[in-house]
Amino acid sequence: MVWRGVIDKYRKYLPIGRNAEVVTLNEGNTPLVHATKISREVGSNLDVYLKYEGSHPTGSFKDRGMTVAVTKAVEEGCKATICASTGNTSASAAAYSARAGIKSIVIIPKGRIALGKRAQAMIYGALVIEIEGNFDDALRIVREIGEKYPVTIVNSINPYRLQGQKTGAFEVCDQLGGKAPDYHALPVGNAGNITAYWMGYPEYKAAGKVPSTPVMLGFQAEGAAPIVRGHPIQNPETVATAIRIGNPASWKQAVNAANESGGLITAVTDEEILTAQKMIASLEGIFCEPASAASVAGILKLSRTSYFNSGEKKTVVCTLTGNGLKDPNIVERQAQAPTILPADTQKVVEFIGL
Ligand SMILES: *Cc1c(COP(=O)(O)O)cnc(C)c1O
Repeated sequence: MVWRGVIDKYRKYLPIGRNAEVVTLNEGNTPLVHATKISREVGSNLDVYLKYEGSHPTGSFKDRGMTVAVTKAVEEGCKATICASTGNTSASAAAYSARAGIKSIVIIPKGRIALGKRAQAMIYGALVIEIEGNFDDALRIVREIGEKYPVTIVNSINPYRLQGQKTGAFEVCDQLGGKAPDYHALPVGNAGNITAYWMGYPEYKAAGKVPSTPVMLGFQAEGAAPIVRGHPIQNPETVATAIRIGNPASWKQAVNAANESGGLITAVTDEEILTAQKMIASLEGIFCEPASAASVAGILKLSRTSYFNSGEKKTVVCTLTGNGLKDPNIVERQAQAPTILPADTQKVVEFIGL
């Protein structure tokens, strides 16, 4: 079957009108990869799968929500989208708006966006505004503009975004052969994605597609962990720029997802995040961005406590939210730099030790 994107595949679960003109880049259908070595690392009773959302058209899971949000915006006659972003929302909004032939305005915190993401918004033709403030300031400005002017907000406070993102849960179930995993781990920033997955799983169960729903595990970065601390963080700090958020828009829904599913939301340090990012790349061959690695860092951390010790074999899916190529500067800081040699075969052979 030819893949034509998440609206085509999961249309009956989505609020899309019969005559809507679907705006798509054939997003979705991302790989669910069994992580053989990381499974071994976390102990024998866990089977770890990586849902690699970095393989999306704009390199992050945001495309799942953006196809629905922009399709609805066009259906409702809107001429421009606007968003605040830590990078990936703006890349996706700019791409889907270009595809739809409407204007895209993106507001980002100056100097705090990974290089590749900023480049994406620019090349897709968005009007890019950098504010002297953080993400939470940008979102406040976007909300205020959206209330007064004829532009459609495509942040995850737009309910169609979460509708699209819930297809991530459907896909995981389909890829596991009609079963939900026992646990689902993911990074938490503005908390839209954990909310969307926790819409998707129960909905798929209600539709008779799977017999159960997973325990939801959310991970924030230690320096940007408002939900874990129980109050907003004024100046959130972490290397994982995609989750550097001090006052998440879907805070309550995220807490609800954790509580209802019997899961939790906790924090991981930047060091744990970077270690996990390196492990995912060097052990499994998948290059994700730092924020994405918070999911794996989290299950590594929980596995060192007795959290998963139940005896029987359990399945855990970690969402790897974005592509590592977006943020190459991080790698320069933590991986070994290449060795420089003269253009001489003998010298190269000697260095390799052949
Ligand atoms: C947006 C994003 C997140 C955070 O998702 P929320 O829905 O805001 O919690 C995590 N990782 C990446 C790569 C993202 O782009």
